[in-house]
Amino acid sequence: MFLRALVSSLLLVPLTLVGLYVTGIWRPPPPWDPLAPLDFRDPPTPVTRWKLARMEWQPESCFAAFAASGMTVARLPDRPSELGCPLEDTVRLTGEGASLAPAGPVVTCPVAAAWALFEHHALQPAAERHFGSRVTRVHHLGTYACRNVYGRAEGRRSEHATANALDIAGFTLGKGQEIRVVRDWGEGEAGAFLREVRDGACRFFRAVLGPDYNAAHRDHFHLDRGPWPRCS
Ligand SMILES: [Zn+2]
Repeated sequence: MFLRALVSSLLLVPLTLVGLYVTGIWRPPPPWDPLAPLDFRDPPTPVTRWKLARMEWQPESCFAAFAASGMTVARLPDRPSELGCPLEDTVRLTGEGASLAPAGPVVTCPVAAAWALFEHHALQPAAERHFGSRVTRVHHLGTYACRNVYGRAEGRRSEHATANALDIAGFTLGKGQEIRVVRDWGEGEAGAFLREVRDGACRFFRAVLGPDYNAAHRDHFHLDRGPWPRCS
């Protein structure tokens, strides 16, 4: 009897909050509010993943996140493709503190959003922790390529075919130090930094594939917002 009263009173609290939320009387703080635009600077919460996922079916929420974060983003016109490689809701990726080299690769808005979160909450803190320095340049191997997975003649289209992926080969730090996935993976302090970067990317990208995954990724991290979750 007592247990039943306890359970029903415990249920009452979340039900009341849901009721207040639905009627608009009460809203949680923005990082916890599923309907508030994502601000990349806020500490990530379990709701952050949901907000990132929502961008895939509500692209406008992605552009709203850049506005809410005080960041400008260069939106590109959509480009249909008969080859299964359309560009939809894409932007030029610029990075916040670290520039991309080569500059301005084309990525989907959700990839740019995941990148903003990754740079702010994983990449730069890891560089500070391991080297007392920030990353100033990110070396990438490309984003958009109209091809199948691994460039095979058969099989499904790669996430690169819709610019929904980014391949990262290395980083330059503020002190001029160069870190390369192909050379430094598993080696000393730089190796520990790269492992932390890989794990940090897994918090915001849906698939992260590096040297631990297979030989095709020995020299880069593949980051994407496609439908197949994987962190390796
Ligand atoms: Zn890739």
